[in-house]
Amino acid sequence: MPKIVTLQLSPKQAADEKFYVARAAERLGIRQSDIALARVVKRSIDARQRMAKVNLSIEVYIDKEPQPAPLHFDYPVVEHGTEVVVVGSGPAGLFASLRLIELGYRPILLERGKSVLSRKHDIAQINRGGEINPDSNYAFGEGGAGTFSDGKLFTRSKKRGDYNKALQTLVWHGANPAILYEAHPHIGTDKLPRIISNICRTITEHGGRVLFESKVSGFVLKEGRITGVKVGNDTIEGAAVVLATGHSARDIYELLHASGIAVEAKPFAMGVRIEHPQRLIDSIQYHRDERGEWLPAASYSLVSQEAGRGVYSFCMCPGGFIVPAMTNTQQLVVNGMSPSGRNSAFANSGLVTEIRLEDFAYLREEWGELAGLRYQQMFEELARQNSGERQIAPAQRVSDFVAGRESHSLPRTSYIPGLTPSRLDRWMPEGIAERLRSGIATFGRKMKGFVTDEAVVVGVESRTSTPVRIPRDSETLMHIEVEGLFPAGEGAGYAGGIISAALDGERIAEAVARYCKAHNY
Ligand SMILES: Cc1cc2nc3c(=O)[nH]c(=O)nc-3n(C[C@H](O)[C@H](O)[C@H](O)COP(=O)(O)OP(=O)(O)OC[C@H]3O[C@@H](n4cnc5c(N)ncnc54)[C@H](O)[C@@H]3O)c2cc1C
Repeated sequence: MPKIVTLQLSPKQAADEKFYVARAAERLGIRQSDIALARVVKRSIDARQRMAKVNLSIEVYIDKEPQPAPLHFDYPVVEHGTEVVVVGSGPAGLFASLRLIELGYRPILLERGKSVLSRKHDIAQINRGGEINPDSNYAFGEGGAGTFSDGKLFTRSKKRGDYNKALQTLVWHGANPAILYEAHPHIGTDKLPRIISNICRTITEHGGRVLFESKVSGFVLKEGRITGVKVGNDTIEGAAVVLATGHSARDIYELLHASGIAVEAKPFAMGVRIEHPQRLIDSIQYHRDERGEWLPAASYSLVSQEAGRGVYSFCMCPGGFIVPAMTNTQQLVVNGMSPSGRNSAFANSGLVTEIRLEDFAYLREEWGELAGLRYQQMFEELARQNSGERQIAPAQRVSDFVAGRESHSLPRTSYIPGLTPSRLDRWMPEGIAERLRSGIATFGRKMKGFVTDEAVVVGVESRTSTPVRIPRDSETLMHIEVEGLFPAGEGAGYAGGIISAALDGERIAEAVARYCKAHNY
């Protein structure tokens, strides 16, 4: 059995392998030469005091005791396996496809957007203020919404699946093994695209198919069962259909609704993105002027209750960039991402508040179960109407937003298309603006310096969670009405975030396998 040694070190010591292995040997009372293998299994930062400490747990194997087997995935070839249609190549669709392969099924993965390489060009064009391709943008394309992101891999839903296996799968496909032990692992937008294309390569090399620029625009239904989907004039058939289209695919919700397939309105969250100079967040969190060479860009996680509703920070991106995440030109939507080094001069985060069913009840008569979707769309259109040309986003200094004042100028920003001053507090629905305002004031009391002229709120952060659920049976995980249809991931309303969507995709693949077995497909 390996020994576990827990050390509390300075950030510099924790970055020095020779130092911490020597310290571990000393702690165990053995010679360093007796150590066959020492590996970090957990790493977290404790920044509560002025001198931040790093907690390291190290697994030490001594002499000839058996060492852990190297990470290995052995996917079978499934060319002749039963075909299952998977719609959407986000984390849910990719991990569903990998799990289907492990279980001997052949995924036919359909993606409306382009491969990562071509998608990069479309994203660069959006950042330059150019055209927005409605099928190739920050939300759509190989790898889904998570490809050009921070790649945070933290999830609260670890119990919903094998969290470690999901991380190992990412490492097998090229992620830094440090994600296996970091307390808050992340990959970074510079590394994610290669990992995603490696996953797609695994799928095709093992007999699955991955078809880009293949937008599903119809479902083929026979006597209450789905037998395939329509892509242009073609029909793609399969024993089952996994629908993992994410929550930006409004046309899919509309298609389901128009086809008489049950969807349900659900509560969600919306708000703004907030951006501070990273050095300011570092100084607040690390209690000193400079974070120095060895500490990572600091982050925060804030929650409060305002007027009986939650206001919270979401998807915080230290050392990152705000990005234009809309899927067409009638909307203005922002989100955040960071490179692996988290080395930009800015810290941004979503700052959102709960949106309840009653907020959009007035839209129910006209929009039925899609009322929340319409409410979300109206919020994005309001942002568009109050913005500048193209992707220029409306913004207000944080101190002005809290005080209800106009901003005559704006601070520097990471948002490449640029910002324009706007009274967000005036044009947002009153309840949202008011709760965000008092939430930010509360956060300013928790983190001294958070409310400042140097920070800016940018409109709008609207795609944090889906306003529509595609309901599934709690046992079979199949759609409650349509046999063979398996809604998966964030768009279905059963996941939020990269890892949670990936775990949901795996669960769905297992449910598909049970279904196919029971019906001899
Ligand atoms: C900029 C940004 C940064 C983010 N950062 C993080 C982060 O750091 N950590 C984190 O956990 N989460 C992050 N998220 C959220 C995360 O990306 C999503 O939670 C996750 O990708 C959801 O996975 P999914 O597979 O359910 O759906 P998606 O990733 O949305 O994938 C759905 C896929 O389906 C495709 N599709 C849609 N309609 C059709 C159709 N009709 N036919 C064929 N294909 C279709 C889409 O093109 C897309 O590729 C970020 C999101 C964005 C936009």
